[in-house]
Amino acid sequence: MRLKFLGAARQVTGSCYAFEFGGATVLVDCGLYQERPFLTRNWDPFPVPPDRIDLVLVTHAHLDHSGLLPRLVRQGFSGPIVTTPATADLLPIVLEDAARIQEEDAAYKKKRHAKEGRRGPHDEVPLYTTADVEKTLPLIETVPYGRARRLARGLSATFHDAGHILGSSMIEVRAGDGTDARTLVFSGDIGQWNKPLVRDPSVFLRADYVVMETTYGDRLHDDPKDVESLLCDIVAKTVAAGGNVVIPTFAIERAQELMFHLSRLRRRKCFPPVLVFLDSPMAVNVTGIFELHLESLDDETRALFRTGKKPFEFPGLKLIRTTEESKAINAVRGSCIIMAGSGMCTGGRIKQHLIRNISRPDSTVLFVGFQARETLGRQILEGNPEVRILGRTWPVRARIEKIMGFSAHADRNGLFRWLDALEKPPRRLFLTHGEKEISLALAEELRRDRGWQVSVPEYLEEFELT
Ligand SMILES: [Zn+2]
Repeated sequence: MRLKFLGAARQVTGSCYAFEFGGATVLVDCGLYQERPFLTRNWDPFPVPPDRIDLVLVTHAHLDHSGLLPRLVRQGFSGPIVTTPATADLLPIVLEDAARIQEEDAAYKKKRHAKEGRRGPHDEVPLYTTADVEKTLPLIETVPYGRARRLARGLSATFHDAGHILGSSMIEVRAGDGTDARTLVFSGDIGQWNKPLVRDPSVFLRADYVVMETTYGDRLHDDPKDVESLLCDIVAKTVAAGGNVVIPTFAIERAQELMFHLSRLRRRKCFPPVLVFLDSPMAVNVTGIFELHLESLDDETRALFRTGKKPFEFPGLKLIRTTEESKAINAVRGSCIIMAGSGMCTGGRIKQHLIRNISRPDSTVLFVGFQARETLGRQILEGNPEVRILGRTWPVRARIEKIMGFSAHADRNGLFRWLDALEKPPRRLFLTHGEKEISLALAEELRRDRGWQVSVPEYLEEFELT
């Protein structure tokens, strides 16, 4: 078997691995590059001829794992795209949204470049269009957790719950027969233990080869058990001061987790009965998908749904879809809580809410997720005294808070906990999906302390797995 690293190699986004066995070529994930220095790879011809790929397995619906699928199809891929039923329901929402943004971006760039009389590094066309997404969606096939899916003669894949977001999975590939059989495990994105909504991550007792993500290989999070009391404290203080709480949020998992905690806090009367807005059509759509996939939720949340107690609903919660409804939030008198996208404040309705609140000393901007370099979210979080939003400069006078226990990724302890389940060392461990220095340091530590064979693959590096 051969394994080739086509992305998330010594950087975080663009997850994509190819393996070959018995004449079949299979891709695991086909993710979009989102880090600035690597964006140009989205435009490169695919490093493996798309028409020679037999099948794609998708670990989860985040764009850095699925966002190049329509481009792969546009370049000639026509095989099955295999994933879990919940991911299959999330992919249309995520990919259609991505195509719309690509189309809007291309139109905007075309206009701007024409005005400035210059050309960008690429033609001003979308990376892919809604039409490409329409050709991609019919290729999706589902397989439930725990059931082996045959890929080719002597080759199968089994999806296991990764506990990261709804429908997320780790993929166990089995190649060969009898004593010659080998297993290769792809971790996907490993979730945190003890989170609400999703189950704990699966662990493996044995694997010959392992590809593991290392996003937070150098860090520890707040305990997920503490997030509710931190949230309670921030909301109660802001409401007492008469301000609003503005929360930039990701549409999948984070928004639903916030509603879950706010609903419990509301029932415990932690804060007065203020209005709570989820101002994101995408997050509202994703919330509907959760209710369709109780099989992917943890026991506690599933029990709530089964007994008719809707864990995301509570008095005062308003789900906002239209622009008119969104604008009407400005007319609310008194304090309110506003959750809106995008999660790093790079676009979407959150910008309007920031404009209305960022200069109000009684309001709070609360961050509940990773803020990448060079984003508006990062500038606010780093304490800039003023920020530019939609072409104007605004002084930052609101209180700025963050709660990192909401992360959907295992921290350093979580990654070790996952590896420690293996009863004996794998023949080789590949570390991916992390900033270069973090992956290299973790590899060195595992070689030194455990004597394991560990590699941190370079982009396009290939390995023969014997
Ligand atoms: Zn992810």
